[in-house]
Amino acid sequence: MTGKIYKSTGSWYVVKTTDGKLWNGRLKGIFKLDDITSTNPLAVGDDVELEPEPGDAQTAIITEIHDRRNYINRQSPSHRLHHHIVAANIDQSLLLVTLKEPRTSQGFIDRGLVTCEAYHVPAILLFNKADLYRAKEEEKFAAWQEMYSAIGYPLFRMSVQTGEGLDAVRTLLQGKISLLSGHSGVGKSSFLNALFPAMHRKTHGVSGWSGKGIHTTTFAEMFDLPDEGRPGDTPPGRIIDTPGMREFGIVDISKQELSGYFPEMRVLAGQCQFNNCLHMEEPGCEVKKAVRDGRIHPDRYVSYCHILDSLGKVY
Ligand code: GDP
Ligand code: ZN
Repeated sequence: MTGKIYKSTGSWYVVKTTDGKLWNGRLKGIFKLDDITSTNPLAVGDDVELEPEPGDAQTAIITEIHDRRNYINRQSPSHRLHHHIVAANIDQSLLLVTLKEPRTSQGFIDRGLVTCEAYHVPAILLFNKADLYRAKEEEKFAAWQEMYSAIGYPLFRMSVQTGEGLDAVRTLLQGKISLLSGHSGVGKSSFLNALFPAMHRKTHGVSGWSGKGIHTTTFAEMFDLPDEGRPGDTPPGRIIDTPGMREFGIVDISKQELSGYFPEMRVLAGQCQFNNCLHMEEPGCEVKKAVRDGRIHPDRYVSYCHILDSLGKVY
């Protein structure tokens, strides 16, 4: 049987086979799938082969993993050199952000975008709480819309509260596996509740945002979107929720690689005087020239410098 991992709890996996049946899957005893630095060999989104366990209608042995198109990992909380694969085979990453209550910083957005680029996952920005926009936020939204669209990132405005823009976002999700992320307070739980009315996730008010212990589970989980009146043979839209992952950290990126993850800098690759140019103080830097003549937005360059600086540090 062929199936997809919907949930991983360490040693057990919830696997959905192509006929829609859910299985409790486990790996064969000495089955090694990944390099030893990964603390979990299988992740949500992985496609696997499995065989029913004799005499049990619910459990199955996972015998094979298919090649991954992409995956997102992060450092293990307990061991700096170990990686934890969060999710695999992702079609798109939805970055939920807000301009107000709370305000998402551009630094946060750009780190998220760099991470998506590094993992080869197309990123989409969803601006939630559009109902709160006044003149100041409208201005900021227009500016960011221009800046991010110019470098190829789709951007949507929506409000879970009023329903504005939600239909367009639902269309965006059809037939795709989408990873949802965003920092605390942007409305992730509210958004998921709107998409999955049967689920009733706990949302929290302003006072809860900084509360410790709110996001304690770290296991990602995938959910099929309610499939209304769509042809049976198209896969449903699926969402991967990553509770506890406020931000996927930038792992495994060298300073030298970073500009490759800024699309507007990537197109200038090889045009600097020095081929190891970090686009800081080097002479003959095409990236800095592009910042000066307006081909690169100065705020994006500032983000680049901040991220570059942070890459030198050990967390
Ligand atoms: P999470 O931390 O990202 O899961 O955020 P929650 O879903 O718990 O939402 C945080 C707060 O923002 C709650 O009080 C929600 O009711 C509120 N909220 C969510 N979406 C919207 C929206 O579109 N507009 C407004 N005004 N408030 C929202
Ligand atoms: Zn340069």
